[in-house]
Formats: sequence, structure tokens, C-alpha cells
Amino acid sequence: MAASWDAPRSVDEHRAAVAALLTPTGTEQVALADAAGRVLAADLHAAVALPPFDNSAMDGYAVRAAEVATASGDAPVTLPVAEDVPAGRTDVPPMAAGTVHRIMTGAPVPEGADAIVPVEQTDGGTTTVAISAPAEPGAFVRLAGGDAARGAVLLTAGTVLGASQLGLAAACGVATLPVHRRPHVLVLSTGSELVAPGGTLLPGQIYESNGTMLAIAVREAGATAEQLAFVPDDVEAFRSLIAEKVTAGVDLVITSGGVSAGAYEVVKEALAGHGVGFGKVAMQPGGPQGAGRLELKGADDVAVTTLPGNPVSSLVSFEVFVRPALRAAMGHPSPERPVVTARVNGALTSPAGRRQFRRGVLDARSGTVSEIGTPASHLIAALAQADCLIDVPAEVEHVEDGTTVAVWLLEV
Ligand code: AMP
Ligand code: MG
Repeated sequence: MAASWDAPRSVDEHRAAVAALLTPTGTEQVALADAAGRVLAADLHAAVALPPFDNSAMDGYAVRAAEVATASGDAPVTLPVAEDVPAGRTDVPPMAAGTVHRIMTGAPVPEGADAIVPVEQTDGGTTTVAISAPAEPGAFVRLAGGDAARGAVLLTAGTVLGASQLGLAAACGVATLPVHRRPHVLVLSTGSELVAPGGTLLPGQIYESNGTMLAIAVREAGATAEQLAFVPDDVEAFRSLIAEKVTAGVDLVITSGGVSAGAYEVVKEALAGHGVGFGKVAMQPGGPQGAGRLELKGADDVAVTTLPGNPVSSLVSFEVFVRPALRAAMGHPSPERPVVTARVNGALTSPAGRRQFRRGVLDARSGTVSEIGTPASHLIAALAQADCLIDVPAEVEHVEDGTTVAVWLLEV
């Protein structure tokens, strides 16, 4: 059972606790089209050489360089064209001495030829051709294996697969790749004041936004998310939905709301004592947190992180604790957001003893960052304008205008 904690944890302590909840996901074989953004689980070796055969880099004529050594505009060398070799021809005969083959880009260079003369340096003839420039041996011949030898390691395990990497896999004839499985995450919001977007608000109600926000953040992190219907502040409703929805394929449950110090803290009431510990993290926003492996009757326990309900707290908590843990679990080589430094526009004051993540807008050109909104954790409009988090260390209370600060880049 994960104990609750009395003294506030540091951000790093809680990051480690959340990361420890998740076990590395297994691997699966997926089609290239489904592999974008995934992490490669094994080295990719070249099944064929790249290119697989010597081929022409130009439209022109395959020649023996020695036979056109004297060619010039004033004294062209004229030779019979013995074969026509378009790209894709698979039965190219050897090239007899004293002849040339007309050849297209990507077509196999015939045995006997050692250079290509581009069509622009000829009269373009199809039965005989007048060649008006000499060719160095090897000119415009793309050698087999010149890009990668057969068997060479093309991509190493841990590579994040994007367009060029998947193009390379296709180029060496591979149709599927082994990748780390995406963790599957359930997202569950709580709050009796919540109304689904599209509905009508009564006085005292607000639209539910954390579910959408966190489910999309999960997917952007590379995992899969199921956004559950949010529940009111009702322990039984909360418990029964969890019991119904947590199946063997679920790697993590993320809840929002119901973990602070008030009454009606549904998440805390439902989960405390069942493997999930609750306490404070010395951070702002996102002070109240909970995490653990929830013990379930008749089923394996499941990792749970309980995030506070204020939208800014929820998303910042996700960024700080959950995103890196999810990405590490799926073998990502860089689970963390990139961190850069920038000079802050305007002074900031920050509470003693709490690490603060302020919403910022970075001007990369001038290397400066400006706060957007205030530290208040309900300002979702400002959050939506932010492209970075300004990381103010726990011990810092005053950041002078122009001071260099660390900035987490959110939009990459
Ligand atoms: P809680 O953490 O449940 O005490 O909620 C803190 C604040 O966040 C309250 O103002 C809630 O109304 C708000 N809140 C909680 N959950 C959500 C949600 N899913 N969507 C939007 N606001 C929420
Ligand atoms: Mg609530």
C-alpha cells in the first residue's frame, strides 16, 4: 500500500514516484504506416544494399570511358546504340565493346560500362549517338551499397520513427517494424459542478475541460487515451466506474479533481488506503497530488496518478509528472521536454519553498521569455497561449527582470 506523505515531496521526488509506477511497455510489430512517432525496439539492418545495384544517376548513355576520351564539341565520338535501358529493366545484356546503351536515371548500368554521359552532352540519338564530351570512369554511376552496405545497421533501437526513418525502412524492403507498445491510459474527471461541453450551464456549473485536455496530452505524449465520462463527487459512482473500466490492457489511470484539502474530495476518499498515497508536492501549480498502484478486487493492481482539478494545475502536473513517465515507459530516448534558457521580461516573485512553473511565451530570436497570465491555476485562457513553462526553483523568491531562467518548451 502506498503511504500518504506528511511532509511535502519535492518535485523530483514525486516525479520519481510516478515514474516508478509504470513498467516498460512490451513491443509489437506494426506496419510502417502505423509506426510514425513510435520508438524502434530493435536495430534495423539493411536487408538489401542501398542502392541494390549499380545504376545511372542521369538520363544519358552508358559508355566505356576510354572509348569517349577524345570526344569534344568539335570532334564528337559517334557510337551505335545497342540497347535501350529504362528504369525497371531487369534483363540488361552486357554492353559490347564499341557500343553504348541509352540509359535512364535509376536503370541498371550494364556490365562493361563504366560511366554515364548525360543526354545533354550528346545529340540524343537512338540508333547511333554523337557524344560531345569525355566521361571520367565512374561518372554518374551510383554504386551498389554506396548509401548502405547489405547488413549494415541503418537505425538503432530507441530511434523515434519519422518520415525519413520510415522511408529508409521501406527503401530496404521492410514492411513492418518492431516498436514499443503505446501505454494505454484512462482519463477520468470528477466534479459535481461539471457539465459536458455542448450542454447548458446552470448557475454554479462549469464546462468539463480537463478530460479533453488530458486525453489529448496523453496522445500527444505518444500513448493512447480513453476519456471516460466524468463522474460527480460521489465515491460510489467513482469507484464503480474505475472497477468497470480498468481491464488488463490499462497501463495508467489519470484522474483530475477531488484531491485537495476540502470536503467532497472524491478521489482521495475513494482511493486512499487502497494503494494510492496522497500528499503535497512543493510546487505551484499542482500542490495536491496522489499516486500509487490501485488495488482492485479480482484484478491486477493498476497505476494511478491523481491530478488536481484546476485546469492549469492538471496540465502542468501532467507535464511535470506524467508525460516523462509515460514516454520513459515506451522506451523514448528523450522523455523530457527540451529545456532552454532565456532572459525573463519583467521581474517575477515566487513563493518560498515551492518550485513554480509559470506559463510563458518564448521569443527564441531575442532569447527572452514573457509570462502570460498570472500564477493563478484557473487561467486556462492564458494557458492556451503559452508555449513554454518558466521553471522557477523552489528556493528562488525573486527573479529580476532580465535574469536567465530555465524554460520547458511545450511545442515541439
Ligand atoms: P478540485 O481539485 O476538484 O477541488 O477542483 C479545483 C477547481 O478546478 C475547481 O474550481 C473545479 O471546479 C475545477 N475543476 C475541477 N475539475 C475540472 C474539470 N474536469 N474541468 C474543469 N474544471 C475543473
Ligand atoms: Mg472537485
